[in-house]
Amino acid sequence: MIMSEGVLNYINKLETTPVVCEKSEISQLAFQLKEAHQEKEVDILATMGIHKRDIIKGVQCPHCENYMKWHRRSWECKDCGERNQRAHLRTLEDYALLFSPLINNHTARDFLMVDSASSVKRILTNLKSLKTGGRKFRSYYIPLSPFQ
Ligand SMILES: [Zn+2]
Repeated sequence: MIMSEGVLNYINKLETTPVVCEKSEISQLAFQLKEAHQEKEVDILATMGIHKRDIIKGVQCPHCENYMKWHRRSWECKDCGERNQRAHLRTLEDYALLFSPLINNHTARDFLMVDSASSVKRILTNLKSLKTGGRKFRSYYIPLSPFQ
């Protein structure tokens, strides 16, 4: 329990506490911290002792978890009949989290298990994300959903 006199003494003491850092110094320090910030790169596979070849490729059905085939601009599940045009998004997010946020057409074909370069180009272009590199060496940033 604090007596009223104790509260007044406490307040008086607060008012005379010397300023440790000026506001401008705090702002400058905050700016420097923000500028120096770098995402920590973690090789999650190495950390977990998992080899890249052990990762199962392909797009899973959002309903039954079986693997889907890309057919006529849509993913089809032969097991449950699901058709989905965006089922690859989760697979690409997995790729981004496991390997790299950047992916090119060749790697995406391999990971999504789609043979057609033009289909994968359409899939990657429809991400509407940043691209890097020229036509021949183009890579696309894989957008992550906000709840990752
Ligand atoms: Zn299914």
